[in-house]
Amino acid sequence: MNKMIYRFGGETTEGDLSMKDLLGGKGANLAEMSRIGLPVPPGFTISTELCQQFTEKGVWPAGLNEQIKKGIEHIEQLTDSTFGAAESPLLVSVRSGAAISMPGMMDTILNLGLNDETVEAFAKETGDKPFAYECYRRLITMFGNVVMGLSHDWFEGESVQPVQANESSGSQSGDSGALEASVEACKAAYRNLVVEAFPQDPWEQLERSAQAVFRSWNTPRARTYRQINAIRGLKGTAVNVQAMVFGNKGGESGTGVCFSRNPATGENGLYGEFLLNAQGEDIVAGVRTPQDIDKLKQELPDAYVSLQTMVARLEEHFKNMQDIEFTIERGTLHILQTRNGKRTGKAAVKIAVDMVQEGLVTEQEAVRKLVEPFHLETLLHSQLKESEGPDNPPFASGLAASPGAAVGRVVFSSEKAFESEESVILVRIETSSDDVQGMSSAAGILTSRGGKTSHAAVVARGWGKPCVAGAEGIRIDYKKGLMSNGEITLSEGDWISIDGTDGVVYEGKREIGQPDFSDDFYQFMEWVDRTSSVLVRANADTPQDAERSRSFGAAGIGLCRTEHMFFGEERIRLIQKMIFSRSAETRKEVLDKLFPFQKQDFLEIYEVMGELPVTIRLLDPPLHEFLPDDEEDRLRLMNDLGMDEPGFRQVLESLQEHNPMLGHRGCRLGITIPEITEMQTRAIMEAALERKQQGVSVEPEIMIPLVGSVEEFRDQKEVVDRTCQKVFGEYGITVDYQVGTMIEVPRAAILADEIAECADFFSFGTNDLTQMTFGFSRDDTAAFMPVYLRKGILQEDPFQSLDQKGVGALINLAVDQGRKAKKDLKIGVCGEHGGDPQSIGFFISRGFDYVSCSPFRIPVARLAVAQAVDS
Ligand code: PEP
Ligand code: MG
Repeated sequence: MNKMIYRFGGETTEGDLSMKDLLGGKGANLAEMSRIGLPVPPGFTISTELCQQFTEKGVWPAGLNEQIKKGIEHIEQLTDSTFGAAESPLLVSVRSGAAISMPGMMDTILNLGLNDETVEAFAKETGDKPFAYECYRRLITMFGNVVMGLSHDWFEGESVQPVQANESSGSQSGDSGALEASVEACKAAYRNLVVEAFPQDPWEQLERSAQAVFRSWNTPRARTYRQINAIRGLKGTAVNVQAMVFGNKGGESGTGVCFSRNPATGENGLYGEFLLNAQGEDIVAGVRTPQDIDKLKQELPDAYVSLQTMVARLEEHFKNMQDIEFTIERGTLHILQTRNGKRTGKAAVKIAVDMVQEGLVTEQEAVRKLVEPFHLETLLHSQLKESEGPDNPPFASGLAASPGAAVGRVVFSSEKAFESEESVILVRIETSSDDVQGMSSAAGILTSRGGKTSHAAVVARGWGKPCVAGAEGIRIDYKKGLMSNGEITLSEGDWISIDGTDGVVYEGKREIGQPDFSDDFYQFMEWVDRTSSVLVRANADTPQDAERSRSFGAAGIGLCRTEHMFFGEERIRLIQKMIFSRSAETRKEVLDKLFPFQKQDFLEIYEVMGELPVTIRLLDPPLHEFLPDDEEDRLRLMNDLGMDEPGFRQVLESLQEHNPMLGHRGCRLGITIPEITEMQTRAIMEAALERKQQGVSVEPEIMIPLVGSVEEFRDQKEVVDRTCQKVFGEYGITVDYQVGTMIEVPRAAILADEIAECADFFSFGTNDLTQMTFGFSRDDTAAFMPVYLRKGILQEDPFQSLDQKGVGALINLAVDQGRKAKKDLKIGVCGEHGGDPQSIGFFISRGFDYVSCSPFRIPVARLAVAQAVDS
């Protein structure tokens, strides 16, 4: 017969920590703790496979009851008691526990085994009748609630009030007569509501409780929890049946929860709370206020010392900070549960560094296990001090497009943002390159449209500016200067607070907590970098970005989007002039004027980056993105350019596109207007040559965007090579350079071998590749993505975390084909997925040489890379 249950406690413990999948986290931990000799009340775990069987077939698995009997015998032997006996009755708890913790999502039943007969025996044995009846009352209400679905309220008539435990008297207050009456009232309420008597057979109690725990796996709240937390692929919950220990047996008893270190600060030392004369549920229920764990030292000094010793052993064994539940029964300590404790980013880093210094873990273990990438994320950005809750409803929610918090007055135009002397939040339906100046002076950005790779999101992330994008619930009226969420209307000048880490917007001014980098952080990151040879580069477009990237530990620049260098009043005017130039000569004239700006930027970027690699992408966006949207601004531009209206309108119309993200952009621009490629190449190379003259060697990597065929690539490479040769001739010296391509059009991925033959490197532009693979315009997903996610059509936003199945298949193909054609082909990624820990795992598994992401994500990516390489 299949093994269905696994015993723990004593010599016969059958499970261990590695069996989480089968025993659930709690079951595996209980087994592991028993193995290392911790005082864990004995019990057994019914495996998750049985939950799966029960859920699928809807019938109680054959043979399970026999195995449960064996499990109970095991507990009986170790506790010297008998289940259902009229003398020394065994009482057990029944608890759920899946492989991944789902706090509070599933159910618990305590004191199982009590009935009208055993309660008397239990009273005799404990010498405390009121206590015994109080336990019985709890069983009936918990069973009624968990198994029969009765609300707790139904038990709360006058006659069934729970009796308040008295903290120090060593007994339940009230006389046993009142308690017996209360039990009778509970039973009567149960009978009335269920139309049958409370089951007196302990075996029936046990079977029905275990079934209820299995059923709780599929309750709407459990399913929603799994969906929200992306918990997938589990068999179900296990059921843990364990001998009861009682923290409510008087003043020498108690129960508590503690962390082995402070989960907020990481400080080493017990942190938690306890209640004397109480059961675990009393702490959760909040009826009595628990005391600080430090007080236990005075109240029960011996138990406190045992707890300290056990906690140290647990940390030593699990090599991680622990979150522990314990019960003290008449002075004796029992450990009921332990798990790795949740902690803040600050605490995670401190604990990792301390544990290495204390010799508990190695540097590599600290990197692999003690800090999660999201911990660093929270550490690197400011946060609103109050988070969302029932008393703190947000004004609106949107996509968490760029992390961090900002508080400011609402402004609806880029100009106002730029002019304002106060802190402002730029609120737009969506942003374009027109808004860049305002975006750069705003403290944060809020848009009602657009996805995670919308203009607002990408630019804000690059600058480390908080941004909430696609907040669909708000309506913005630029003319009236108002925005409304349907209930509340805010005007320009009103204060709002935005949290780009969670994607929420609040009315009014909220307090902000600033990030703080400790020495521990730098120490930890040093260990991170020692773990991996895969590089993390930055998506950096300006010397300032480059500077920031280096301070975050970038190993180079993986994507310099040159179009971002054209922002700023003078430059944008020039590019606009170029767009409206009617002849090749005037276009050349304007480009010549743009040239020094570009060259100066490259010089400064090279200067900041030293000899680190820099990949520069030639111009990508469609030219109309450099033109104003607003009619008034357009007319102003027309006058500035000295154009007549028909001529101006004619050019405007020629630039109009039905789907701008699939139009005249990328290498298509360079192919139709090669002067742009020439100008950019010249700026890149002249700057590199001048650095060489200063004694610093720079090897520029020029990247051609949006290539879909080898012919396109060849066309642009020819312009680049020709220009390079010309510049080398003029300077009389040369530098090495590379010409590579972005892989962001599905066709390029499919024909990657052809392209690899003439390209020096591939960099996956996963933003466009995702857009084109799905056929989702990346700026227009806000209208349907939430529905897709809610309906489970997509599990995750593919612009945020790589769609490994579809887009990943194209990447696999391109990597294989590319490396078949050129064995050592350098491969990287520069789409937003380059900073997403989950996607990074995929890129590493495919042998990428580097990932590139926005500067503020670099530490997160460094850790994700180290963890992926090491796994
Ligand atoms: C991409 O498409 O992934 C990319 C990096 O380019 P952009 O986002 O600028 O189109
Ligand atoms: Mg792209």
